Amino acid sequence: MNLLVSKSIFTVGMILWLIIRILYQREQKQNTIVDDRNSLTEKVVRLLVLIGILFLPLIYVVSPWLNFANYRLPIWVNGLGIATLGLSLWLFWRSHRDLGKNWSSTLQIREGHTLTTNGVYQNIRHPMYASVLLLCIAQALLLTNSIAGLFGFISFSIAYAIRVDQEEQMLLESFGDQYEAYRQRTKRLIPYLF
Ligand code: SAH
Repeated sequence: MNLLVSKSIFTVGMILWLIIRILYQREQKQNTIVDDRNSLTEKVVRLLVLIGILFLPLIYVVSPWLNFANYRLPIWVNGLGIATLGLSLWLFWRSHRDLGKNWSSTLQIREGHTLTTNGVYQNIRHPMYASVLLLCIAQALLLTNSIAGLFGFISFSIAYAIRVDQEEQMLLESFGDQYEAYRQRTKRLIPYLF
């Protein structure tokens, strides 16, 4: 696929991604936070992910600086990247919608926080992280560049490894047996598998 086409498709996907995030972030502003675990490690890790999935792709799209690291993929693989991007956007929107007022961008418990176990949370505990993982795969298949394409996946993997246990521990402390039962009957990222 022509590089300009695949870059444009990825850019449109990222704009839609940001629109979803901004819309839900605005709704969250009024809620009171009762437990905040936004540590320095959390902040560093979030910055790393921002660099990996926003900053480096932006540099690659608007400048020729990273072109020395380009690779080529067959057109059907780029097509797979478009499908993955679409699935990722859908899951990102659905997980925001299903979490509703329980969502926050960092590790927090809000006043009136309830445990979401319906919708895309019915079979997996981390659909939003699954959607970011799909975005990183789409990034590698559409932005065919070893730096801009692959760093998203690397940075997200590090962030996920650091965050997921802490998040589950926080929810376990807040919801006790209810969360333990939910944990027993669900997987983390892929329904019935992982
Ligand atoms: N890990 C989830 C949510 C990411 S947003 C996912 O990938 O879909 C992070 C915030 O969501 C955390 O601060 C936590 O308080 C909240 N959260 C995570 N899972 C939840 C659930 N099942 N019900 C309610 N809140 C949840």
